[in-house]
Order: sequence, then structure tokens, then C-alpha cells
Amino acid sequence: GDEITADMIDGMAKQHFPMCMRHLHESLRKDKHLKHFGRLQYGLFLKVLGLSIEEALAFWRRSFSLIQDDKFNKEYKYNIRHTFGLEGKRANYPAKSCQQILTADQPGPQDSHGCPYRHFSIDNLQTGLLSMYSNQGLSSAHLPEIVSIVKAGHYHVACTRVFEITHAAQGVKKNDGVGEGESVTHPNQYAARSLELEK
Ligand code: SF4
Repeated sequence: GDEITADMIDGMAKQHFPMCMRHLHESLRKDKHLKHFGRLQYGLFLKVLGLSIEEALAFWRRSFSLIQDDKFNKEYKYNIRHTFGLEGKRANYPAKSCQQILTADQPGPQDSHGCPYRHFSIDNLQTGLLSMYSNQGLSSAHLPEIVSIVKAGHYHVACTRVFEITHAAQGVKKNDGVGEGESVTHPNQYAARSLELEK
């Protein structure tokens, strides 16, 4: 994608990120920390979104504001560089798809990774949706429909429906999905389409 900088992330998260990444971002801001699988899920997403290695290091260094430089350099810098294929076997790791997020590395109670549509309780999901997306037109009137899709086990369809509701102001209608009726299969596809609609 286009190059983005560390200080653009707060604004972009509010307008363009799917709920899994909104939740990781808000957990990072609240706790000044993310556990391993959260750093991995969010770090790879941000890389594919267009954050360079320099901007990624700046983003994580500033976000982990409760730790000193030497701890950051020792414990986190290597892994961030690894995410970019600059350490270890230098693989160009792709960002995780919805399928991977939904099925691998199930989050425990202290974790922030995963897919909220699948891994949150119904109560937390509803509270989270209203707190994250009412600025984009989602209201409690939309919740029964979303909850019934989730209860049927169609998590990515619920995410797609939230995309449609929160992009109604850009002309997106029910069943348009993330373009030509497609449903969400990847968090970066969600964010890229949202950014495209803003142009
Ligand atoms: Fe993220 Fe995919 Fe879940 Fe949407 S369906 S919240 S993009 S993992």
C-alpha cells in the first residue's frame, strides 16, 4: 500500500480498521503493551497497510511507553524486524487472513488477538461495536441483525455487514460487501477498501 507513518495510525484505526484491529489498537493504547500473538497479528497487518520498518519501530517504541529503551531493544526490536523479514530466515511473512485469525492460536482471557465476532461474548461484542462504530453510523438498532449472523457462526459475514453499515455515508448498501458483493476475507482487504472509498 501507500506509505503511512506512525502518527497516522490513531486516526486511521478509527475510520478504516475492522474490529479485530480496532480492538488490538485500543488494547495497545490502554495497556501500553500487547502480548505476543497480538503483536504478531497487528504488526503484520500494519506492515501490509504500508508502515515501513522505520515507522513500525517508531510506532511500537512510542506505544510501549512504560518500558525503557534497553528492554525494548532487547525484547521487541528483533521480533518487529523479524516480521519484516529482516532477521532469522528472512521470510516475507503475509498478514493473517480472517480464516487464520478465526481458527489458529485461540486467544485466552488476557489476550487481545483473534476475531471479536468469534471470540468475544455476545455482551462484549455488542458493547464493543457501539463504542467503536457509533461514530460511523452504527446504532443499537443494528445489533439484533449482527448478533443473529454471529450466532449462526458466520463471523466474516457479520464483519461484512458492519463494513456496509459503517460505510453507508460513502454510498455502500446492504449486500455490496467490500465491493461487488464480496464478503470480508482479510483484515487488510477491509482496510484497503475503506481507504479507497474515502478518496
Ligand atoms: Fe478481523 Fe476478519 Fe474478524 Fe473482520 S472477520 S474482525 S477482518 S478477523
